[in-house]
Amino acid sequence: MTRILIVGAGHASAQLCASLREQGHEGPITLVGEEPHLPYHRPPLSKTFVKDPEAELTPIRAAAWYASQGVATRLGERVVAIHRDDREIELASGERIGYDVLVLATGARAKRLPGLDGMANVLLLRDAADASALREAIRGVERVTVVGGGFIGLEFAASARILGRAVRVIEMAPRLLARAVSPTLSEYILQLHRAAGIDIALDARIEEIRSRDGRVTELVVNGRPEPVELLVIGIGAEPNIDLAVCAGLACDNGIVVDEHMRTEDPAILAIGDCTSFPRDGARMRLESVQNANDQARTAAATAMGREEPYGASPWFWTEQGTMRLQIAGLVPPDSAGVKRPGKSPDHFSVLHFADDGRLVAVESVNSPGDHMMARKLVSADARPDLARIADPAVPLKEFLPA
Ligand code: FAD
Repeated sequence: MTRILIVGAGHASAQLCASLREQGHEGPITLVGEEPHLPYHRPPLSKTFVKDPEAELTPIRAAAWYASQGVATRLGERVVAIHRDDREIELASGERIGYDVLVLATGARAKRLPGLDGMANVLLLRDAADASALREAIRGVERVTVVGGGFIGLEFAASARILGRAVRVIEMAPRLLARAVSPTLSEYILQLHRAAGIDIALDARIEEIRSRDGRVTELVVNGRPEPVELLVIGIGAEPNIDLAVCAGLACDNGIVVDEHMRTEDPAILAIGDCTSFPRDGARMRLESVQNANDQARTAAATAMGREEPYGASPWFWTEQGTMRLQIAGLVPPDSAGVKRPGKSPDHFSVLHFADDGRLVAVESVNSPGDHMMARKLVSADARPDLARIADPAVPLKEFLPA
């Protein structure tokens, strides 16, 4: 029976275990994860978990489920090498485990700023340990400085503000979330956070980091020194590709896979945040729960010998203070889009089109109904009439192709 070994116990691997059993795999499944936890929901870490000292991790599936599905879990174990010729992986302890199909689901890690490792008041936010440390640290400070105006930095900034901390966000780009959202949304989010009392600097360059006794004390930003109590680095993530690189697998901002999630070694698949996958003639890497889950479903099919190429339409969400933003599709760079108003200025969607009139992305603010329909419209390559779709009186479902 085919032995499937999964490295990394996160969103993608939890879904893979489920999909393998749903799709009829009866052989052994072993899940090896470096963190001491079963796969848990990572998105709450920056939203609810850091705010609530009593909050616990939310497992994606209970321990009993893995037992009932015959999934062997090896938690708190780091995989340090892949021996491709022997079809074995090696744990940090030196133990080797054999496989017939190996799935790399190693995720991504938070990028660091050079020279800050070991500083007592500098924290990252990627996993449960980071979030627990941050939740503890924030209790003892009045002021938090967040480097990076991306999703995680802003979610954490909003959480810290709700906890009553003075919050400063330092972003080097001229607008927030510049790579992921439209200028309309960047501006809306900027105003929302400023109205909540968050101090946001754009076009901001950190020219010097001053420290004393193992703590960062000051940042010099655009020529001005700013005091630091707690510094949170939210400058993005990079894929965990080390194992793949050492095993000689091709990597290009992620482990290179085909549309079936196969690496160049047919016995090794890769899924989730760690992959660089083909899309529209280019390579892409996404960091989202949707991508992790849908790639896991594709990989399960591949492992079962079926050809079901990955073509899922991306979607994403973020929660920042009072705002829930949901995005269907990928927003074209700097697209102005067409606004579809909602019941108040804080409820609306912005729709984005390709040159040929196809709806390619929709950003929905506090409008979950729009978002659910937008996912269908984007997947269906709808070509709606611009004037009509901007009219909130016309239901979005009318634009679904027949
Ligand atoms: P991960 O969930 O990161 O799991 C990878 C696992 O592999 C980790 O546990 C890691 O320790 C382990 N691992 C790595 N190397 C090894 C090794 N050598 N040996 C053993 N184990 C190893 N996405 C959304 O869509 N919406 C959101 O609102 C959202 N919010 C987020 C908030 C935060 C704070 C973070 C950090 C992420 C958020 N994301 C969000 C992104 C989402 O969580 C990721 O896209 C998702 O977790 C990716 O799943 P994955 O299985 O690929 O990787």
